[in-house]
Amino acid sequence: MTGQQLETFQGNAIASSNGIVIGRLQKLTSGRYPVPERKLKHADIAFELQRLDQALEEAFKELDEEQAHLSNIKSQEPLMLLNAHSLMLRDPELIDKSRQLIEEQQINAEWALRQQLDVIESVFDEIEDPYLREKKADVEQAGVRILRHLMGQTLEFEIPETNEPQILIGTEFSPQDIVMLWRLGIAGVIAEQGGMNAHSIIVARGIGMPALIGSEDILNKSNDGDTIILDAELGKWIINPSDVDYDHYHHFIAALEIIHDDLAIYADKPSLSSDHHILPIMANLEFEEELIQAHQVGAEGIGLFRTEFSFLQSKYTPSEAELYQHYSHIIRGMKNRPVTFRLLDIGGDKASLFQRLSGYKYGGENPAMGLRGVRLLLQIPALLKLQLTALIKAADESPINILVPMVSMVEEIQQVRDMVHTCKQELGVATDITVGVMIEIPAAAMIAQELAEVSDFFSIGTNDLIQYTLAVDRGDEDVGKIYKPTHPAIYQFIRLSVEAAKRKGIPVSVCGELAADPEWTQDFLNMGIDSLSMGLNSILMIRKHLSFLEYRPTH
Ligand code: PEP
Ligand code: MG
Repeated sequence: MTGQQLETFQGNAIASSNGIVIGRLQKLTSGRYPVPERKLKHADIAFELQRLDQALEEAFKELDEEQAHLSNIKSQEPLMLLNAHSLMLRDPELIDKSRQLIEEQQINAEWALRQQLDVIESVFDEIEDPYLREKKADVEQAGVRILRHLMGQTLEFEIPETNEPQILIGTEFSPQDIVMLWRLGIAGVIAEQGGMNAHSIIVARGIGMPALIGSEDILNKSNDGDTIILDAELGKWIINPSDVDYDHYHHFIAALEIIHDDLAIYADKPSLSSDHHILPIMANLEFEEELIQAHQVGAEGIGLFRTEFSFLQSKYTPSEAELYQHYSHIIRGMKNRPVTFRLLDIGGDKASLFQRLSGYKYGGENPAMGLRGVRLLLQIPALLKLQLTALIKAADESPINILVPMVSMVEEIQQVRDMVHTCKQELGVATDITVGVMIEIPAAAMIAQELAEVSDFFSIGTNDLIQYTLAVDRGDEDVGKIYKPTHPAIYQFIRLSVEAAKRKGIPVSVCGELAADPEWTQDFLNMGIDSLSMGLNSILMIRKHLSFLEYRPTH
């Protein structure tokens, strides 16, 4: 497998996970999954029309559910958007024309709908008024709603039959895409867009999938079937590598294997500095399948369970019983090790439940500062109650910690506590639940002293803390270079939060990506941080690194 006769291209990424993979590339152009294209026999047309009708009916049902769900929200914008979707789904230009295409061209419903969406969207491209032009996205979202029902929950695509590892290249991948592709056996992904701590790269790191994001212009430089080296260790890619590149990478991969073998012995060791100071290393998880690996690397608990995933994955808001089952599974799976569930942090950089299901761009023009995290939960008390009830029931088996995201005011944590109290009363239980604050907004670090009065613990979310402190979008490749954890303000905010926690005598952990940065381990140890929580792939490396450090307290 050499690329001598083909031109070699290479480039760097803004962010990467870990690992190296050499394989064949396949492009996912225009950022959407290809729909299946099938010619039909005449006898199958009626069935295909029925499939379209059924998908449409399911899309309407979904819209009704979402409308009911959003009726608690003060802002009218989401409802208006759902109404707009509903109108589009009734538009004869979309549905009747798609039916016509199925009949006349004898093609499957997805293909017909896709073609008709393209026709409608091309009309928007001609419009001069930028506001109206943007409505094209609404048409696409309304159409994708039906496509989703036609094709199952996720938009699937064909993976070419080959024994070689497949590397997918696209404009952008959502966290759910990454997980779906990983489950489908894709060996690695490269996206043109995305910044340092975009949620998708965090997910890729967690599941150990080599991924690069912010890889400019790679779609232009590549062709389907090209050989590619995806180096998520150094954050670079090479298309049609030379023999020298191959040699180099084969040695590199062999060296990495040795390093991994060497790290494996740290799976059974406690997390200790060389002078036996304990700094437990926990895992950041998102879904159940990761439990196995959490045990393999000897995670001393789950320091951050991001609960968004089960909501994002499901077509509808999961029921209390489903959530209970899911949370119980996690708690049982950790076999009495501590588990911290973070309440839903929908919004911001994450493809939110609402974005996914309603097409509404949550938080308006500036979603990172919009209705996200605890703000959203307090705006939809039924959602908060649903999640808390399921968590409290699950905690009957073993105590859990509940972490509240995006807190900027004391009142927010008090209101969540009140809701915990109400839920316990309604359930008639006295389950011991600790409620902690995620310190990820600079204001929270500034009022850490007051927050400590109403919190059982702190967890410092450095990903957002850096983003909001430096006003640098964590997912934007254009400002990726100035997303700098080394900015002195970051250290100051962390120190303020730790000192406040120490004064009040509550535990404080770090659960952002900095927890996995060896440059910071000595500082965290010295500050008296009580635990670190990080992606599964970093645990062994940090545990080993810690074992060479000495505790030199700074407080
Ligand atoms: C953080 O902000 O540091 C964090 C851990 O949360 P998330 O990455 O999910 O926003
Ligand atoms: Mg965060």
